Amino acid sequence: MLGRIHSLESFGTVDGPGIRFVVFLQGCPLRCLYCHNPDTWDPKQTGKYVLSPEELLTEVLRYKSFIAKGGVTVTGGEPLLQPEFLLEFFSLCKESGIHTALDTSGAIFTEAGQKVFDIVDLVLLDVKSIDADQHKKLTGVRIDNTLQSLNYLEEKNKPTWVRHVIVPGWTDDDLLLKRTADYLAPYRCIEKVELLPYHDMGARKYEQLGMEYRLENTSPLSKERLENARNIFRNVGLQVL
Ligand code: SF4
Repeated sequence: MLGRIHSLESFGTVDGPGIRFVVFLQGCPLRCLYCHNPDTWDPKQTGKYVLSPEELLTEVLRYKSFIAKGGVTVTGGEPLLQPEFLLEFFSLCKESGIHTALDTSGAIFTEAGQKVFDIVDLVLLDVKSIDADQHKKLTGVRIDNTLQSLNYLEEKNKPTWVRHVIVPGWTDDDLLLKRTADYLAPYRCIEKVELLPYHDMGARKYEQLGMEYRLENTSPLSKERLENARNIFRNVGLQVL
């Protein structure tokens, strides 16, 4: 089983606890309007590397001392497009005593994906919008599988960090933020919520790729609005990163 890998980052600090080796897998069925990595979308492209789980582990082990207090995070694209590869790779990481994290939209909810949830140490679940209509407009896909994934993680008591991007004109709305916070608050598996401010730094990539950037007229989120969102989530008892 070979993995189609878009790129590798040896010293990641924003995708889970500690310093982490970050693996970006190729392919994503979502089309988030604010996506920074549209070059990961096409699942048929091989990406920069095509590696077996063993070969990827060998690459990771070169950095083992640096990531001793962190670990490995697999993100994308949408990593659950390649569940068999993930399962084998995470199993090897565990045998080598390396902490594993999976960054996913939860939009692919399959039996093979559930096995990946079972084995990984931490799930970073990207909840794009709690509003079903807005989720569809923002990502191109329905929210149902993401919510089912969250329920599965709750059932398995899997340590989960929810990630949520606050986008002006979309998710930056007090009523919607409160609705989102209220929805997430009862889940005991959620250790932390990471609220990420929308910024438009991905726009240039679209230009380079000759693609239309559909949030062209959206301004980056202000510090005040980010703090406002954080307070709304804190007020329902969620731990905000
Ligand atoms: S899930 Fe991630 S990679 Fe896929 S479109 Fe959304 S932001 Fe981009």
